[in-house]
Amino acid sequence: MNTVHTMNTFYAITIISILLSLALLSPFQLQTQNTTSQYIPGYTWNKTTLQTLIVTSENQPWWNTNLINMTLRSINQWNDAITYFAHNYTDYAYLVNLRIEAEIADSIKPNYDIYVVFSQTVNSSGQNALGVASILPRVNGTIEKCTITIGAGSLSNTLTKSDLQDITTHEFGHALGLDHSNSSNDLMYPYYDIYTTDNAISTLNLYALATIFSWINNTATMRLNSQTIMLPSNIEYAYAPINDPTPKVITDNPIIKALEAIGLLLIRPTVLTMLLIATLIITITAIVTKREPKNN
Ligand SMILES: [Zn+2]
Repeated sequence: MNTVHTMNTFYAITIISILLSLALLSPFQLQTQNTTSQYIPGYTWNKTTLQTLIVTSENQPWWNTNLINMTLRSINQWNDAITYFAHNYTDYAYLVNLRIEAEIADSIKPNYDIYVVFSQTVNSSGQNALGVASILPRVNGTIEKCTITIGAGSLSNTLTKSDLQDITTHEFGHALGLDHSNSSNDLMYPYYDIYTTDNAISTLNLYALATIFSWINNTATMRLNSQTIMLPSNIEYAYAPINDPTPKVITDNPIIKALEAIGLLLIRPTVLTMLLIATLIITITAIVTKREPKNN
């Protein structure tokens, strides 16, 4: 009897603890959700079909064809996410008209809206970046064109196909008129975490896009203000499904990536020299300590 009672008490305590932690967790999650915000600079396109030219660099030593495939996947990911949002949130059904189309060429040709070019390294405001999107706005606040530059090689890590797709999808977010969001779990967060992949497009990103393109529904004005967008109470923070995810490879594994990053760091001349000096100091200290006479 006593044992059963103890077990019952144990189960009761366990259940109460679980319920308590759930009760504590849910308001916390709701709070995180409500404070996730997305900034928009106030530019919009004056058209709903955006023609993209992907410019290849096949004669460059760092070139690889994944760069084209991953760009096309990013474009599909955006088109799919836009369709998903327009179908699920009918107040913004007009967004379904927004489409990104793509062509591939080996040199820049005029009259495209978005250009995707590749470079071995990318510099954004004096900093090394994985990608950058430069918007050319007109005085009336509409976007004339946007050039996305994708870095084909990071200095500190090998970028996998998943990384490339995530980076390109982020840059297309800028091309569509989005700025950054304040949550590290969001696609439009300014810093990319190479240890997590599949940055899905969020309802926050899509709701912000619906705001940017609200002129489709209400043609009165295209003029937008720069603003911080938060989700209305009837839209939950969620991710649009990725219909065609990038096949995962061994190097997408966070542990393999971390080891690779350490390896790349170790082979840098400065780090290598410092390591050699440190080893030398430790060896000398060890020898000197051993030679010291023992007192007793
Ligand atoms: Zn960015």
